[in-house]
Amino acid sequence: MAEAAERAKRLPDEVSLVAVTKTVPAAAIREAARAGQGTFGENRVQEAEVKIGEIRSELPDLRWHLIGHLQTNKARPAVQLFSLIESVDSVRLARRLDASAAAAGLRVAVLLEVNVAAEGSKSGFLREDLRGALADIFRLTHLEVRGLMTIAPLVDDAEEVRWVFRALRELRDELRERYGAPGMRELSMGMSNDFPVAIEEGATMVRVGRALFGERPRG
Ligand SMILES: *Cc1c(COP(=O)(O)O)cnc(C)c1O
Repeated sequence: MAEAAERAKRLPDEVSLVAVTKTVPAAAIREAARAGQGTFGENRVQEAEVKIGEIRSELPDLRWHLIGHLQTNKARPAVQLFSLIESVDSVRLARRLDASAAAAGLRVAVLLEVNVAAEGSKSGFLREDLRGALADIFRLTHLEVRGLMTIAPLVDDAEEVRWVFRALRELRDELRERYGAPGMRELSMGMSNDFPVAIEEGATMVRVGRALFGERPRG
């Protein structure tokens, strides 16, 4: 991560690491926490609930991000569990999160997920749809929109998806300017196979699983 930041003339501490622990047992999370890792990403509410419950009493200061698709009926537990919900992919979900946060007397920090490459298999706003939806989302007073997130297509050579990361950065810059939203600064992009390119293109968070914890079981 530091080498990629240097290549782009950025400071290494401009980029934070979200350690992705889906399918990873609590013991490995404890070990990562002891090594100094403070932020973890899970893609399912139920799995996260169990793990967080298991280690919260001994490690109360860990921060948890939700990085997978969230069903609206799980909005209520999600606002309690996660310090950042990275995967807000519809206005409907944004409204539900806003309502759940209001009911709990909280503000919930979110990223808006963008399907930059318009892949049919992925959730996330299409770029042109997000431009229209953002006015509605900014009206939700219990949501704090911190930035954008994307999952690039899976390719053999990460250079093939450099354009995706660049496009997400340009979209953030455009929307931030248009809506006068200086708080919309985060770019969560880059995973085990492509995080150096994402950092070169401006990532402020990378979400890395396999490169830290090894291959996940299939299924
Ligand atoms: C699993 C996952 C990651 C991490 O992927 P790796 O290839 O293990 O680094 C990042 N982001 C999301 C949304 C994921 O589901």
